[in-house]
Amino acid sequence: MRKIWLFLLLLAGSMLTIPAFAANKKITKVVLDAGHGGKDYGARGAYSNEKDLTLAIVKKIGTLINDSLRDVQVIYTRTDDTYPSLKERHAIANQAGADLFISVHINSTPYWYEKVKTGTRTVYRGHGRKRRKHVETVYKTIRHHTTQLQGTESLVLGSIRNNQKSKAVVDYGESIVDEPDLLNENDPQTAIIIAQYTKAFLSSSVELGTAIQQQFANQGRRDLGVKQQSLEVLAGSYMPGVLVECGFITNPDEEAYMNSEQGQWEIAKAIYRGIKAFKMQAESGK
Ligand SMILES: [Zn+2]
Repeated sequence: MRKIWLFLLLLAGSMLTIPAFAANKKITKVVLDAGHGGKDYGARGAYSNEKDLTLAIVKKIGTLINDSLRDVQVIYTRTDDTYPSLKERHAIANQAGADLFISVHINSTPYWYEKVKTGTRTVYRGHGRKRRKHVETVYKTIRHHTTQLQGTESLVLGSIRNNQKSKAVVDYGESIVDEPDLLNENDPQTAIIIAQYTKAFLSSSVELGTAIQQQFANQGRRDLGVKQQSLEVLAGSYMPGVLVECGFITNPDEEAYMNSEQGQWEIAKAIYRGIKAFKMQAESGK
């Protein structure tokens, strides 16, 4: 079944020439995609879940666009705690003929383990005359999920085969969880889809991501940059798109910030202003 589906997708892909994103293009429809939802909680912090934060932020972006960019129609992939599949999200975007796809997510880091001394215990080893008393140190392992890592990044769909590893990993020696679903680039059909998307939309997606990151930087947030990844969440929409990671839910300060109304509005404003800047640039034909 899956093979048939892939074959049809490939057939459709080869017949369909994806039109490149044109200069002078009017941006009139924007898809806002709140990551995860329903049974899919996304990343978990000390007291909050990614799926709730992405929805709260996405609704605020929608409010800002509706209030201030009157010629832009907002299309949500979800407006409540439900889980549309990635395929369904792509279908919503494609059927609407949207011009941009913005997927909002929250970053996290893996658990790490610390061995802590809790005391000592006396044990006896050996037999008969060789029996000796030993004092052993007792440890317990504590699981941590907090990080000092902070900031925002924008991910675009592109081949990562020849790409450098994420800069944050180099900076901090700590890995970010590869939480978004990645495509298998070794599959030739997937490679074709990525190549087609890249040709049509990579440069405009990078421009959009750069515009959003610029706004976060203006707010004083740490800018982790725009990165290419083979993201499944962006691979089925035929329009420029970006996945914004708004901060680290495993960083206590950022978790508090992203749970606050003020923090959510600031994040929404950065993304809204980035969309607006991109729209103005695209419509001026530059
Ligand atoms: Zn996510």
